[in-house]
Amino acid sequence: MIGAVDIGGTKIAVGMVDDSGKVLSKLESPTDAPGGYANGLARMIEMLRRTSRDAGVEISGIGIGSTGVVYPGSGAFGDVDLLPGWRGNNPVQDLTREFKVTVALENDADASALGEAGWGAGKLKSRLIYVTVGTGIGGGIILNGQLYRGVDMAHPEISHHVIDPSGPDCSCGYRGCWESLATGPAMAAWFNANAVGDRPPQNLSAAQICQLAKRGDELAARAVDREAYYLGLGMANLINLFVPDVIVLGGSVMKSAALFLDGIRKVVRQGCRFVPNEKTELVLASLGEDANLIGAARAWHHRFRQGVGLPS
Ligand SMILES: [Zn+2]
Repeated sequence: MIGAVDIGGTKIAVGMVDDSGKVLSKLESPTDAPGGYANGLARMIEMLRRTSRDAGVEISGIGIGSTGVVYPGSGAFGDVDLLPGWRGNNPVQDLTREFKVTVALENDADASALGEAGWGAGKLKSRLIYVTVGTGIGGGIILNGQLYRGVDMAHPEISHHVIDPSGPDCSCGYRGCWESLATGPAMAAWFNANAVGDRPPQNLSAAQICQLAKRGDELAARAVDREAYYLGLGMANLINLFVPDVIVLGGSVMKSAALFLDGIRKVVRQGCRFVPNEKTELVLASLGEDANLIGAARAWHHRFRQGVGLPS
């Protein structure tokens, strides 16, 4: 039974996940990053103890998926925007000491990729790219059944490949990154900037725009086409670069995936002609709202049970 810890910018979720990827019990707490790491750690420990009691199980290992830059090798937090002041702290060492079990830490998108590859929509696929599209874009890459790591075990940033160099400024320093063009807020910003004339001023979200498009609103339909185009360009780049078996799509924007999939496919077909792009499946993530928690547990399995240790 694996204790799973999902550390996000706004909340920490903790749960017990069995060997088939099922969540048996869970609890949540606000992250409260400014309250300090020691306070966050104390709540993680308390929630691990309570969820294991609730499920009536013993914890045999702990998997952590965390936002931002983390160091899977040392177990420490890097420079995490959303967790100011937590840098350098080491939840792997601290939870190992507390529970006397092995602990694995991964970036949360990598953890979710492992979850979908092990127990979800990408089961039995050896080359998988997980893409989550919501307020940002995140992703993880599994090659030949193993999580792909860069130099220094770094997590690749698939959201910061440039789609349009004359596009909007991005937080990373470039302009026109995938993340600056294809997130929910990017879609909403375009719609709201173009919603002029006899439309009352209203700040609609991407989800509301998708609803409007389904009801036949013309501007909303254009926003959907534009979103599908930019999603498609990013997917096409991933397909040209990796030719994966499958791209697994998660995140809040992908709840409306039915509106985008034809447009994405069209863009992919247009330019990925030197690779067998039609063989790359585009599928929806299947682990639902507990995907991050399940992924965190799978990170432990990947490290300690599948024998996929850390590269030297
Ligand atoms: Zn960027």
